[in-house]
Amino acid sequence: MFNINNILRENIKNLKPYSSARDEFKGEASVYLDANENAFGSPLNKDYNRYPDPLQYAVKMRLSEIKGVPARNIFLGNGSDEAIDILFRSFCNPGADNVILVPPTYGMYEVSANINDIAVKRVNLTEEYQLNLEGIAEAIDKNTKLIFICSPNNPTGNSINREDIETLLANFNGLVVVDEAYINYSRQKSFIQELTEYANLVVLQTLSKAWGLAALRVGMAFASEEIIAVMNKVKPPYNINEASQQLALEALQNVEQVNGWIKETLTERDNLVLKLKEFEFVVDIYPSDANFILVKTTDARGIYNYLVEHGIIVRDRSKVELCEGALRITIGTPQENITLINTLTNFK
Ligand code: PMP
Repeated sequence: MFNINNILRENIKNLKPYSSARDEFKGEASVYLDANENAFGSPLNKDYNRYPDPLQYAVKMRLSEIKGVPARNIFLGNGSDEAIDILFRSFCNPGADNVILVPPTYGMYEVSANINDIAVKRVNLTEEYQLNLEGIAEAIDKNTKLIFICSPNNPTGNSINREDIETLLANFNGLVVVDEAYINYSRQKSFIQELTEYANLVVLQTLSKAWGLAALRVGMAFASEEIIAVMNKVKPPYNINEASQQLALEALQNVEQVNGWIKETLTERDNLVLKLKEFEFVVDIYPSDANFILVKTTDARGIYNYLVEHGIIVRDRSKVELCEGALRITIGTPQENITLINTLTNFK
C-alpha cells in the first residue's frame, strides 16, 4: 500500500517551512511594514513593490475551473521543470534513493536527478515506444521513489498505453509521475481525473505548450492534497512572480483561442506528415499525439545542417538510443510548414 510517509525524504519529514508574517496574517491590512519592501512604490507603477501571493490562489482557482480539480490538488512551479526538481527534493534522499526513467524521454528528468544526486535506473521503451513493464518491475527496489512517464512522450510523440500506466500506479509504492506537457494535442484522456483513484499519482502539465506561454514559466502538478502540501513546503516561497501570475490569469480566459490553435496544429500535423512522406530521405514518421513529429531519415545530420543554412532549426535526435536517424520537428504555422517543405525540396 502506498503511504506518503514511507517515501518522504528524511529531512523533509520535520521540515519547518519558511513562513512570512503575511502568510500568518489573514485578511486585508492598510499598512504593510512586515516584509522590507519599498513602501513608496515600483518604477512600473503597479503593485510590483509587493511580494506575490506565494500560493498563487487566483491562478489556481481559474485552473481549478478549467481542469475540474480542486485548487488544493494543484501545485504551481516556475515551469514544470521546477515541479520536477521539487519532486526530487521532496521525495528522494541524495546518494541513497533512485528514480526509474524510460528513455528515450524528456531529458530534464535525468538532469534534475543528477543535480540532486539521485541514481537513475533506465528501462528503455520497447521498439514501439511503449513501457517495458517487466523491465520496470525488475528495476524497482526499496529505494525507488519515483517513476517518470511522459505521455505523449517527448521526443517520440506517441502516447503511452493507459493500461500500462494504470498497472504501474496499482503496483508501485512510490510516485508515478505522468508528464502531460503535450496532453492538449492528444487523443488520449488526461490522467487528472484519476487523482481520486490513485494516491501515488502526480500529473504534470504546463502553460508552455498549447497555451502559448512558455516565456511566463508556469507549470502545474496535480496530485493528492498530501503530496501538494509537501511540494508547497519545499518550493521557494515566491516561485511564480507577480507578472506571470497576472498574465497567466488573463491568458486563462482565452480557452477558445487556444482550442483553435490546437485544432489548427493537428490539421497542420497531418498535412506535414503527408508532405514529408513524399521525400526519398524520409524513412518513417512515427504517429504523433503531440505538436511535433519524430521523422526517421537516411541522413539526419545532413538535413539538419542544410536546414540550419537556410535559417530553419529542427532538433537532431539521431544520436539518441532508439531514435537513430531521427529529427524532431515542431509543427509550425501553415506558412512555416510550407517554407520547411519548399526548402527540403532542394535537399540533395
Ligand atoms: N515536460 C516535457 C515533456 C517537456 O517537453 C517540457 C518542455 N520541453 C517540459 C516538461 C518543461 O516545460 P516547462 O518547464 O516550460 O513547463
